[in-house]
Order: sequence, then structure tokens, then C-alpha cells
Amino acid sequence: MNKKKYILVLDLDETLFHTSGNNLYIRPGAVDFIKSLYPYFYLIVFTAATKNYADEMLDKIGISNYFLKKFYRQHLTKSGYKDLKTVLRFLIQEKVKYHNKLIKGGSNFKKSNYINELMNINNNILFDKDNNINFNNIIIIDNLVENFKDSQSANGINIIDFTIDKKDNCLKMIKEFLLQMVFLKTKNVREYLCNNLYFISKYIKYIPTSNFTLPIKIIAGNKKNSKRTVKPKSNVKPAAKSDVKPAAKSVVKLKKKNN
Ligand SMILES: [Mg+2]
Repeated sequence: MNKKKYILVLDLDETLFHTSGNNLYIRPGAVDFIKSLYPYFYLIVFTAATKNYADEMLDKIGISNYFLKKFYRQHLTKSGYKDLKTVLRFLIQEKVKYHNKLIKGGSNFKKSNYINELMNINNNILFDKDNNINFNNIIIIDNLVENFKDSQSANGINIIDFTIDKKDNCLKMIKEFLLQMVFLKTKNVREYLCNNLYFISKYIKYIPTSNFTLPIKIIAGNKKNSKRTVKPKSNVKPAAKSDVKPAAKSVVKLKKKNN
């Protein structure tokens, strides 16, 4: 059975690793992060770096084969940021292309792992019920806030920059956070992020304001905003459904108080 229900778009520099000169510093937990989430997510790379550099680093780390597709500098928008529509449109076009080839070629058509995985993507993941591009099953993790603009602001996890800190555990905590989302069989990742990102506020830079139930901007570690900051739990554990909802309610209460 195909367990993959979501698409996870990952930045490279300062998110999965950091390079300085010839040195490559892999973020602690990066390999485990990829391997643990691979059964549940279609993994995509989206980097502002060049193809040669990105491919070389991914090969060095040994995780290149876990990614369904890689987007590089040339796939950025004209203003230089990452548009999730680029990813979704590409996957839709590729599915159509190989679907047609399959019909034409019949049993002579040889399917690679890539084509198999591509054809396995459920249409519900890519399209909503009105046949529009679906933003409810895609998440982007990136250290640059520029990539959380406009319509995709609710799809992002704005991870803290990684350079060389060996004690960094952002990926470990975000992995648990995403596995919990899988465990809960979340139908809308935007809603899940909006209601629960504060659990991992220690590991991210900011939580976007949005149309959902949590219109509070949280900046981790910023004392000026401490009144409006919801203290993160020290650990994100794979919790039962009941663990999430009461916490979300307490945030709404806090908001009312401040108003
Ligand atoms: Mg980056």
C-alpha cells in the first residue's frame, strides 16, 4: 500500500547542511530525517544553488536517491524565490506525460523507479475537488523567510539557520512534528502547521499569520514579544489526537486575553 500522502520540499544550504570552503557540515539528524520521512512523503529538493554543487553535496551525504525531483537555481521565480506552484505543476505535467507514454507504449514501456513513484502520486494530492492545484498536501522547509510569501505562507516551516553547531536538534524535532502529522492522518497541512507550529517554535524563526485559528506571530527567543509568545513544549512527542486540540484552544484563549 502506498503510504505517501504529502509532498515535502526541502532547502539545502543552512537547512540540511552548511558548506564553508571545502568543508561540508551536515546538520545533525539530517540523514535520519530523510530516511524516516521517506516512507510518508514525496521528497523534493528546492535549492537556490547550482545543479553541480547541489548534486555533489547530496551524493557526498548519500541521500540523493531519496528525492523524487530536484529543483535548482534555474527554477526560482524571476524575483529569486521558490514557488510551490513550480513543484506542483511539474509533477502534474510529468504524470500526464508518462501516463500518455504508458498508453502508447503498452507493455513495451519500461518504468523506472522514478516513473513508478511519479505514477503512484494520488491525484487527490495534486488537485483539489474543483480540479485546481492543491496546496493542502505540500510543505516547504527553508531557512529563508523570502520563500514563505503570499499564497504559500501557510505551507512553510521557517527553520533556524544551521552552520556548524553540533548540538543543533532542529531536524530531529521537526521530524517528530511531521511524523505526528502523519500519525494524525492530517487532511490539510496548512491547518496542521497553523495550529501546531508553536510546538516547535524553538526551532523555527517565525510563524506566519494566516486565515486559520492562530493569528499570533511568534518569534522564537525574542524577549520583546514574550507576552505574545506561546512557550514551546520542550519535546514534541508523537502524541495522541487529544494532546493537540486542548493546546490549540489555550492559544486561542491567550489571544483573546491580549485583545
Ligand atoms: Mg537555505
